[in-house]
Amino acid sequence: MLTQNLGYPRIGGQRQLKKACEHYWAGKIDLTELNKVARTIKEQNWQTQLDAGVDLIPCNDFSYYDQVLDTSLLLGVIPQRYSPVLSQVKTNNEIDLYFAMARGYQKNGLDITAMEMTKWLDTNYHYIVPEFTATQEFRIFNEKIFCEYNLAKQQLGEKAKPVLLGPVSYLLLGKEKEPGFERIELIKKLVPVYVEIINRLRKQGATWIQLDEPCLALDLSKKEKEAFDYAYRVISHGVSGVKILVATYFEALLDNVELAVNLPVTALHIDLVRAPEQLDEVLALIPVHLQLSLGVVDGRNVWKNDYEKSLKLINKAVEKLGAGRVIIAPSCSLLHSPIDLELETAIDPEIKNWMAFAKQKLTEVTELRQVAEGNTALLDTNKAAIASRRSSQKAHKQAVKNRLAAITEADATRESAFPVRQKLHRERYNFPAFPTTTIGSFPQTDDIRQLRALLKKGELSLEQYDRAIEQATIEAIRWQEEIGLDVLVHGEFERNDMVEYFGEQLEGFLFTKYGWVQSYGSRCVKPPVIYGDVSRPNDMTVRWSKFAAAQTDKPMKGMLTGPVTILQWSFVRDDQPREVTTNQIALAIRDEVLALEHSGIGIVQIDEAAIREGLPLRKAKHPHYLNWAVKAFRITASGVQDKTQIHTHMCYSEFNNIIEHIAAMDADVITIETSRSQMELLQAFAHFEYPNEIGPGVYDIHSPRVPTTAEMASLLAKAAELLPARHLWVNPDCGLKTRKWPETKAALENMVAAAKQAREQISVD
Ligand code: GLN
Ligand code: ZN
Repeated sequence: MLTQNLGYPRIGGQRQLKKACEHYWAGKIDLTELNKVARTIKEQNWQTQLDAGVDLIPCNDFSYYDQVLDTSLLLGVIPQRYSPVLSQVKTNNEIDLYFAMARGYQKNGLDITAMEMTKWLDTNYHYIVPEFTATQEFRIFNEKIFCEYNLAKQQLGEKAKPVLLGPVSYLLLGKEKEPGFERIELIKKLVPVYVEIINRLRKQGATWIQLDEPCLALDLSKKEKEAFDYAYRVISHGVSGVKILVATYFEALLDNVELAVNLPVTALHIDLVRAPEQLDEVLALIPVHLQLSLGVVDGRNVWKNDYEKSLKLINKAVEKLGAGRVIIAPSCSLLHSPIDLELETAIDPEIKNWMAFAKQKLTEVTELRQVAEGNTALLDTNKAAIASRRSSQKAHKQAVKNRLAAITEADATRESAFPVRQKLHRERYNFPAFPTTTIGSFPQTDDIRQLRALLKKGELSLEQYDRAIEQATIEAIRWQEEIGLDVLVHGEFERNDMVEYFGEQLEGFLFTKYGWVQSYGSRCVKPPVIYGDVSRPNDMTVRWSKFAAAQTDKPMKGMLTGPVTILQWSFVRDDQPREVTTNQIALAIRDEVLALEHSGIGIVQIDEAAIREGLPLRKAKHPHYLNWAVKAFRITASGVQDKTQIHTHMCYSEFNNIIEHIAAMDADVITIETSRSQMELLQAFAHFEYPNEIGPGVYDIHSPRVPTTAEMASLLAKAAELLPARHLWVNPDCGLKTRKWPETKAALENMVAAAKQAREQISVD
């Protein structure tokens, strides 16, 4: 039985790569220095995997920015607009071209935009989207994969396995940049280059090559299925003497099982963490030549593997295929998990014993082979850890479970229907038409961040910190009053992050010190870990909302993060369905909503920034997800009296396929991101005749640019053509945390002026 790994985190245990890249961009270090850091990380990663005893070890999984962008460089898929950069950068210095594609280029009189970035399937990792033209050509443009294999071979010998995004997924994850063709049709031109690459690697000595084809586990059209079939037939004819492994992950193969197992390759990898049930079908259809890689160790979470559970899967495969055709592996690249649990010295040892990060997961893979070969001692140690987690008082709170079991439909339903509530809100607040508000946060200046750093270091007392935050809050309120906003916010100066702030105050959450995961480029995030039943020991936001409300006669909006967003941006429990964890969070946030209401706050916004990104990869699973996600929101929002106005906010505007579910959330007001799309994306709301109030963002907060009054007024006029004017609110696209004060002030002044203009010019009946 072989073991393998599919990919290893490349940021370095102390985020060395992030720092080196940022220094390189700032001109503080040169390319030699940057390459040195990269080489050390690669060599350490390989050593770690060698030491763990893994048989097939990935190379070329390292990337300075993103592995999809690496693939574009390898294949010469370089958008036309970068040609001037190509001629400016020094020969043999492709890295500047590479970073220009990733980050844009504003140097030497050039101003070229970056390539688009989007989420890597259903993870929080973002990749650079390949851009294709109708006349797209492909050729080997860059030597990275070959150099990296050479380096790996010196250290790993036969164990070095080059990894590359497969040709079909590479096309599918990209985008057509002009009309008149379908990118999948480029497969005929693309595959010969893959053949050339594989043959070069084989000549260099590679015995195994991993081609990642995550799209093989998605809903595919007939044409796309044919492309898979075609691509791998051409590859198998074009190369010999090298074993090809096709890796799928994040979903079950389902209707693509037959296609997948019949690809003319040596081995197929399947994700048995996401979809353990697919093993039976794969085993039923697998042809005699194919080897099967079992992804049994979760590459995307922080929990220790349950050996007993994995063993059942491994045994089943071994029985059918024989040990020689079985490979044990993590479910996907370990890119998505933090690096080393051993660095976490502050985690409660009982809970730490339930966890595993990337380094520990490698050991799990090799231990599982030993367990499958009869090592009962390893199995027993693992069983003890799993049992401890299952029964621990730290993870399980009967009161939380009881409360969850008692949830009824009434708990998820507002007392009266929206029209009744709307009337009460109008009487209570008497807002003008086109009421103005913001999404919550105001600029988190260096001064504010500095305060938190000083508090953490103990150089500032809590008392001093609170005074300073109060001061910032008061100033923000005075200023909002001055410019004439209708619904004020306190500014969120006291919050580091919209999930962390709540996680730190809820029970069932823990925080790591070094649990960084790459989000995009040099940006890393450190998600909280939800390890146990969630409850809310104390009020979380009341102190600041109450303080703010007391400073003004204007309505003050309370500001909370919704349960789905908290779930989505955390490492979650794998011992119960996501929806159960979400409902526990929902009850905690519901109590916070009620506490705010009780303290006199009449408007509460519950941000659900991540509802859409939680959508499952397969369409058939959407309804189930949306039902529980929407219900969780309704649980948080439905405890209040009719006269309390509930807002929600979402940082995107693509609602076409989910609009009925968004409407089912039944928020009194929803604010969304629409300014860049020129209100085009409001169509979904218009077609659906969205019944509640809505604030389509008129100010693009992702740019320092200050929009003019006229621009925003014209966006409002467009919105009023699509939706009833009396339902419209006026607000920015999202929170203003990342902006600077001068542009924020100017833009919001213009925004209030635009609302005034709309009140004069657009009739509201
Ligand atoms: N209330 C949050 C803020 O204003 C919302 C942020 C978000 O939607 N991402 O920062
Ligand atoms: Zn937002």
